[in-house]
Amino acid sequence: MQFLLTEEERLLRKTARDFARKDLAPVAAECNEKGEFPQGIFKKLGELGFMGITVPEQYGGVNLGYFCLALALEEISSVCASTAVTVSVHNSLVNLAILKYGSEELKEKYLPELAAADMLGAFALTEPDAGSDVTAMRLSAVKRGDEYILNGTKIFISTGDRAGVIIVFGRTDLNERTKGISAFVVEPSFPGFSVGKSEDKMGLKASTTVELVFEDCRVPAANLLGEEGMGMCIALDSLDGGRVGIAAQSIGIARAALDEAVIFARERKQFGKRIIDFQATGFKIADMATDLEAARLMVYLTAKLRDAGEPYTKEAAMTKLFATRAVNRIVYDALQIHGGAGYTKEFLIERLFRDARALEIYEGTSEIQRIVIMKKLLEEYDQMFPS
Ligand SMILES: Cc1cc2nc3c(=O)[nH]c(=O)nc-3n(C[C@H](O)[C@H](O)[C@H](O)COP(=O)(O)OP(=O)(O)OC[C@H]3O[C@@H](n4cnc5c(N)ncnc54)[C@H](O)[C@@H]3O)c2cc1C
Repeated sequence: MQFLLTEEERLLRKTARDFARKDLAPVAAECNEKGEFPQGIFKKLGELGFMGITVPEQYGGVNLGYFCLALALEEISSVCASTAVTVSVHNSLVNLAILKYGSEELKEKYLPELAAADMLGAFALTEPDAGSDVTAMRLSAVKRGDEYILNGTKIFISTGDRAGVIIVFGRTDLNERTKGISAFVVEPSFPGFSVGKSEDKMGLKASTTVELVFEDCRVPAANLLGEEGMGMCIALDSLDGGRVGIAAQSIGIARAALDEAVIFARERKQFGKRIIDFQATGFKIADMATDLEAARLMVYLTAKLRDAGEPYTKEAAMTKLFATRAVNRIVYDALQIHGGAGYTKEFLIERLFRDARALEIYEGTSEIQRIVIMKKLLEEYDQMFPS
C-alpha cells in the first residue's frame, strides 16, 4: 500500500518504525512482564513529535494530522500495545479536545507541555455505574464563585496516575441527562484530587488503569472546556477520533501476530514437513493477512476523512468494530498455529493475545459501535427513502 502514502508520510512511518524497533523494543518485554510504565519512552516520543502530532506549531506540535497519527500508532503498537494506548489517548482524546474546545488560555497553558511530553494526558469518562451508558454519570460539578467543586469517582482511567492533565466529565445540571454534562481540564495538583485503586489487568500491562477520586476537588472555572452542558458533545466528538486510534492500535498488534505466526510456521515441523505447508495453516494465514489489509484500509480511509474535515462518526465506529474484531481473530489463529508453545510466556503471541482483548471493550464496546453504526445508517436511509 506504499502508493497510498506521500513521501512525508513514508518518512514519518519510517521514523516511528525505527523508534519502535530501536528504543521501544528493548524495554517493551520487560515493562510488560513486570507491569512497569515505560515513562522515559514518552519523552523520546515527544522529541520526535509523536506526542503533539496533530497539534499546530504555534502550540509546540508538528501539525501532521490524524492520518500520520494512525501511521505512528500502528508502528508503536506492533512493538508495545500498552505504549500505543497511552499515545492514542494523549493525542486523540486530550490534545485534540483541548485544541478544539479549549479557550486560548487553556491551549497556551497545556498544549506545549503535552506536545513535548513534559506531561501526559488522560481522559476520565467512565464511572462505576456509567460505562457504556455515559449519561448515567454521577460525578457532580457545582459552580462556586470562580471555581467548580467536583465530587465523585472515575474508574478504569488509562494513565490516570501519570497524567499532568486529565479531561474529567461531570454533571453540572442534575435535571438534564445529556445536556447536564460538562468537561473540565483537571491537574492532579488541584486540592481534593487523588488516585485510588489500580487495576490488575489481563493485558496491556505496561499501561496503567486507575480509579480517580474527587473529594471537593477545586477546579478553576477557567478550566471548563467549551461551555457548560457541552460535555457529552465533547466526549462523543473526541471518541470518534479515539476510535480510529484504537483501530490503528489493532492493526499494529495484528501485524505483529501475523509475523509471529508465519515465522513460527516456517520453522516448526510435524509429520515430516513445515506446518506452514499444511493447507489448513496456510488458509489461516491467508485469512489473517486479508483481515489485516482490510482493517488497515479502513483505518487509512477514516483517518483521511477526518483530516479532510468530512463527517466520519459512522466510519470511525465501523473501523473500530472491524479492526478490533479482526485483531482478535488474528491473535486467536496465530496462537493456534503456535500450538502449546503459544500458550507459554516464551512466545510473544501470548502477550499479543492478552493485549488485543481490551480493544473490543474500551472507547466503546463492539456492541456500542454497532449501535452508533445503526443509528447513522437509519438516518441515511430515512433521508434516501423517506417513509
Ligand atoms: C484497559 C482499559 C482501559 C480503559 N481506559 C479508559 C479511559 O482511559 N477512560 C475512560 O473513561 N474509560 C476507560 N475504560 C473504560 C471503558 O471505556 C469501559 O469499560 C467500556 O466503555 C465499557 O463499559 P463497562 O466496562 O462499564 O461495561 P458495561 O457498559 O457494563 O457493558 C457490559 C456489557 O454489556 C454490553 N452492553 C451495554 N449496553 C448495551 C446495549 N445498549 N446494547 C447491547 N449491549 C450492551 C456491553 O457491550 C458489554 O458487553 C477502560 C477500560 C479498559 C478495560
